[in-house]
Formats: sequence, C-alpha cells, structure tokens
Amino acid sequence: MAKLDADKNRAVFLTQDEIPDSWYNIQADLPEPLPPPLDPQTLKPVSPEPLFRIFAKELVAQEVSQERYIRIPDEVLEAYRMLPRPTPLVRARRLEEYLKTPARIYYKWEGTSPAGSHKPNTALAQAYYNMKEGAERVCTETGAGQWGSAMAMSAAMFDLKCTVYMVAASYRQKPGRKTMMETWGAEVFSSPSSRTKFGRGLLERDAGDPGSLGIAISEALEDVLGDERAKYCLGSVLNHVLMHQTVIGQEAKKQFELIDERPDVIIGNIGGGSNYGGFSLPFMADRLKGKADTEFVACESKAVPHTTKGAYTYDFGDTAGMTPLLKMLTLGRAYKNPPIHAGGLRYHGMAPIISYLISKGFMRSVAYHQNEIFEAARIFARTEGIISAPESAHEIRFVIDEALRCKKTGEKKVLAFNHSGHGLLDLSGYESFLSGKLQDWEPEQVSPPTLVR
Ligand SMILES: *Cc1c(COP(=O)(O)O)cnc(C)c1O
Repeated sequence: MAKLDADKNRAVFLTQDEIPDSWYNIQADLPEPLPPPLDPQTLKPVSPEPLFRIFAKELVAQEVSQERYIRIPDEVLEAYRMLPRPTPLVRARRLEEYLKTPARIYYKWEGTSPAGSHKPNTALAQAYYNMKEGAERVCTETGAGQWGSAMAMSAAMFDLKCTVYMVAASYRQKPGRKTMMETWGAEVFSSPSSRTKFGRGLLERDAGDPGSLGIAISEALEDVLGDERAKYCLGSVLNHVLMHQTVIGQEAKKQFELIDERPDVIIGNIGGGSNYGGFSLPFMADRLKGKADTEFVACESKAVPHTTKGAYTYDFGDTAGMTPLLKMLTLGRAYKNPPIHAGGLRYHGMAPIISYLISKGFMRSVAYHQNEIFEAARIFARTEGIISAPESAHEIRFVIDEALRCKKTGEKKVLAFNHSGHGLLDLSGYESFLSGKLQDWEPEQVSPPTLVR
C-alpha cells in the first residue's frame, strides 16, 4: 500500500471502494463464549425462535453467530456510500499544539452522517433486513433523539413506516429532534404514552413521569407484540449492533496503516457500548491474538457509572422486565438516571461484549462529571473547530488529560478516539455550561441486582 505523509495529511480519506465489505464479529475471537441470554422464567438460555416475533430473523442469526466476518449486503453498502462512508480519520494537531504535548492525537469523525452520529451504521442495516423480510413498520425507542433520528432516516431509505417512543423529558426539552424524525416520516410519541398498557399504568401514577430509555423500550416492545406487521429495532447494547458498527474500526485500521501510525490507546465513550465497540473491536482482535499491546479506555458519566460502579450480573435490558436477561455490567433496571445532557449515556446496563472485555481486564473504564466534559469540549471547539456531542466530550476529557500526562513524562503516545457525533442539537447543554448553571450528579450509592448470577 502506498503510504501517505503523516505530517502533511491532517485528515486521511479512503475511497468508497474501500468501505469494508464485511462486518467483524468479535465472538469468533473471544477466549471463551459470551454468557448466553437467559429466559427470566426458567433461567435457561433462550432459544432464538421467540425472538423472531420481535426482531428480523437475520438480525437474530447475527446476534448469536460465531462467524468471524459477515458480508454486508450490496443495498446496505450503497446506503453507506450515501452517508457518506468512509468517514475521515483526523489528526487533532491544533489541540496537540495547544496542550504542548508530545502525544499525537487522532479521531475518527462520525459526526458527518445526516443524523449527526455513528448510529446510521446499524440503523440502515436493521431497516434493510426488516424490509427484506416483509415488515411494514419498525418500532423503537429514543432517549435524546439520536437513535430515533437515525432509525427514522433509515426507515425512509428502505420505505418502512417508523414509530418512535421518545423519553418524555427529552420530548419536552428537544423539540428539534422530534421535528427531524417527523420530517423523515416517523411518528413520535412522548414516553410513557397512553398508547400502551405499561405507559398508561405509569401515567396514572404520575402524569408528569419524565420517562427513561428502559420504559421506552418496554413500550416499543409492547407495540410490536400487538401488531404482526411491526418489528422492533434496538440502537445499541446487542451483539449485532456492535458488529454493524465495526465498519468504523476497520476503516480506521486501514487509515492508520496508510500513514504508518500505530495507535497506543483506543478511546471512546460508552452509553450502551455500540460506537466504542464498533471502533475498538477490530483493534481488540489484534490484542486478543497477541499481535498488539494496545490499551483500551472506555469513558462514561459519573451520573450513570454503569461500568465503574455496576455489577457484572444478569439483568433485564428494559425497565418493565420484558427482555431476556443479559449478563452485563449494570446499575439495575430501576436505576434513576439523572438528567445529564449526554442523553446517549443514560442507560442502566452495558453491551455484554464490552462488559465481558472490561470484566476480564482487556479494557478499562473511567467516569467524568458533566462540567469537566463540557470544559474539554470547549477546548476542543476552540482548537479544532468542532462542537462535539456531549457524549463524545467524555473521551475528549480523557484524551486531554492523557496528553497532559504525556507532556510530563515525555511519552510520544498515539491516542485515537472515536468522535461519535456533533453537538449542534445539544446547545442547551453548552448554554448551561457557559452560564455556570450546569449541575454535576453522582449517585450516593448504587444497588445493582443481586438475585441472578
Ligand atoms: C447514542 C450515542 C452515544 C452512545 O451510545 P453507544 O451505543 O454507546 O455508542 C454516543 N455518542 C453519540 C453521538 C450518540 O448519538
């Protein structure tokens, strides 16, 4: 491969022929099989058949597949070209100069998609398989609105109807996101809603219930179970979602090879684990095979410390307790997520793959308060120009601190992070920060579930 001059090329682009032709499935390379999802009644591993009622069959097959590579269908590749992919790998040279660090800082820039984040990488794939298998409508939930936007846009690309249950607190705070989803043709309901039995029950108790991602998932599932032409889509956590996102890391590996760099630390934020999984797992493959000694650092919110304070145990994915039990790092499905601005990080659990890798010590995780992450985002905006999603600001905080540490020790580390999205629809968070009104949150104590091990 012809090499590019790393000093002259601030951003590394690939051609559209170089979009990976397969997704990478880390399950083929893990030292042992992942603990299986359990049926909450019998506590036995769930069989895939009941899941076919909820998800497209191909997605269920991908969820449990042990194949190392799964070919990306041509129609999905075509949709990836439109996003457009490949996304650039960018050197944050002005940030390096500002910090006076010997470290070299790179980021993979996923904020270029129409929805403003990495999420269409899986939303397009999920919409495609649902269309292919004859679904007429897809149902999903959204917290801050990023996943709902990605799903609404992707449903439009594959001519599907789309219903989104949006967490009530965000529905009120972020009317812009709702308008985006409606423009793409989705119907959007504030959750808890009066459309489902579960939602009506909650509204009777508290008409002003702010909702949560777990509640919205329960409502979307109830909706799907009541309509045979509808299927459910999930934006994070599950194995197949992380797998679809591996186009990010596979592209980044090629881009680093082109400039003859080897990242020492692979960094990202974790809400449910999908963008960081997508970026990191192709690099983790080399670490698991003993071919690299790369460090892996996942960044989360101190307000939702799912991996730094959670327990590695079986828990439900939703609040109502309708999903199979997943073995994951979790704060418990009843965890009350404080109203932080990084909406994408407000989820009680963590992807089983990421949970496994953290619990085995292949990755580590760190947690930050929202004032310190917005401070990092401000530095980034003033040096590199981009107004980052509050979620991404978590890894920017780590990167800045690590680069400053390298300055003290003189280490010339190569730091690489996944910049998961832009923050142009999260300006109210920036406004609170700039006016000094932003509140930090931390649970006094967490009590993760202990019933099932
Ligand atoms: C949704 C979202 C996240 C967090 O979700 P993951 O599944 O952990 O990736 C992070 N950043 C942005 C911009 C998001 O939209």
